[in-house]
Amino acid sequence: MTEQIDGEAVAADIRAELQSTVDSLADAGERPTLATVLMSPDPASETYVSMKQNDCEELGINARDIELDLDEPAEALFDVIDELNADDDVNGILVQSPVPDHIDYREVLERIDPEKDVDGFHPTNVGRLVAGYPQYKPCTPHGIQKLLAATDVDTEGKDAVVVGRSRIVGKPMANLFIQKAPGGNATTTVCHSRTDDLAAKTRQADILVAAAGIPEFIDGSMLSAGVVVIDVGINRVDADTEKGYELVGDVDYESAAAKASAITPVPGGVGPMTRAMLLYNTVKATGLQNDLDVDLP
Ligand code: NDP
Repeated sequence: MTEQIDGEAVAADIRAELQSTVDSLADAGERPTLATVLMSPDPASETYVSMKQNDCEELGINARDIELDLDEPAEALFDVIDELNADDDVNGILVQSPVPDHIDYREVLERIDPEKDVDGFHPTNVGRLVAGYPQYKPCTPHGIQKLLAATDVDTEGKDAVVVGRSRIVGKPMANLFIQKAPGGNATTTVCHSRTDDLAAKTRQADILVAAAGIPEFIDGSMLSAGVVVIDVGINRVDADTEKGYELVGDVDYESAAAKASAITPVPGGVGPMTRAMLLYNTVKATGLQNDLDVDLP
């Protein structure tokens, strides 16, 4: 029997646990606040930001919403970040990517105070992760770690294969898998667009994380029996639906499920976990900034 991993359910459990921590912080006079900054040419970004704000509001986290016009200069965005960095009422800052072409995203990430960098993308936080003492783990790979733990998948000694080496998914995922820590200790292979004979690598996987951004790219013929498949991909493909598209993952679900012991669906797998871990980092940031011990799931 193939287990379908229910990301919605695991994320709901995490949110429920975070709720009591948010309540305790609020009782101590420190209700968490997340500031989102939207200046993105990608139409999906607006939806992502509004979902993140709704998640915050459901938990009683203050959501501050800043929007900039796409033709504003980089300095306008930097000024907003500087103000948020200096504002003691703001615990977490998230600038939704992508930003317009005339702005260097790297400069944006480096501008955010690492203590408020709840995405975990600032070089200081990346460095802490690589060095083995992460402060804010990037939300998607952290969510995948939690999903594996909730599914009783022990990563220790397993062959983990990550397809994709992006800053936000592939690289931090690989870094978490190789940590000498719970959810790590996996022997890890990272594949990318220049990988030779990808299928030979993916067939070695006990745990496969697909994050290439190519619809239904990994199919059952590229997998070995019993693999745990984590599909990160969220791809819009044309479809005869009300919106004119549907969301599919990077994995061909039917053929992969026939080989897998467990697999995440799209939607309803990794996506809800990414959102839950943003709340986690915001709550953690609030505790750290106020010298308060907080219970985290
Ligand atoms: P990027 O486009 O930044 O990275 C894609 C990676 O896949 C690159 O490293 C690229 O290699 C690699 N790749 C491309 N083609 C191939 C190939 N033929 N064989 C092997 N590797 C290949 O994407 P992201 O990491 O940002 O996102 C990946 C997917 O995950 C997207 O669908 C995105 O929408 C989704 N996503 C989902 C999230 C969630 O919460 N569920 C969160 C974030 C992303 P190279 O480096 O050589 O170019």
